[in-house]
Amino acid sequence: MLIVGGIVHEDDLNRLKEAVRLVQSDLGWSGIPEQIGLELAGRDGDVDAYHVALSDGQFWAGAAGLDGSSKRAAARSVAIGAQDLVAELLGIAWPVCPEHRRVLTVPSEAEAAEEPLGDGPVWRCPVHGHDWVAAVGHLSDAFPFRA
Ligand SMILES: [Zn+2]
Repeated sequence: MLIVGGIVHEDDLNRLKEAVRLVQSDLGWSGIPEQIGLELAGRDGDVDAYHVALSDGQFWAGAAGLDGSSKRAAARSVAIGAQDLVAELLGIAWPVCPEHRRVLTVPSEAEAAEEPLGDGPVWRCPVHGHDWVAAVGHLSDAFPFRA
């Protein structure tokens, strides 16, 4: 899978794969049965552009390629990529806050820098406001009983 000479290194790719496992957990919590993976879809400038894909290879490339430069960046970009994928290809607004029935979002790195976060990016609910709801990959911990 790794393209020799590409700027996406094996470490970046491994971080993206780990992020896929995290986000897959959140998809499962939501009752979405599709399996997600990574699809190498060409180049984005000098960087190999990976996108979140369904198991049949379909992907949505509405944004730049995934960012695997750090664990946090990988989880953020895969979560956002999966959200776009699910919205565009499956027509599902995901994930939804079980308390408020509103779509959760992952704050940008700049927004997140102002928040008291743990190790990774978080899902945020517009009604919860600036309170984070759950770390990406841990919706099942925050809401063991899915609404
Ligand atoms: Zn909420």
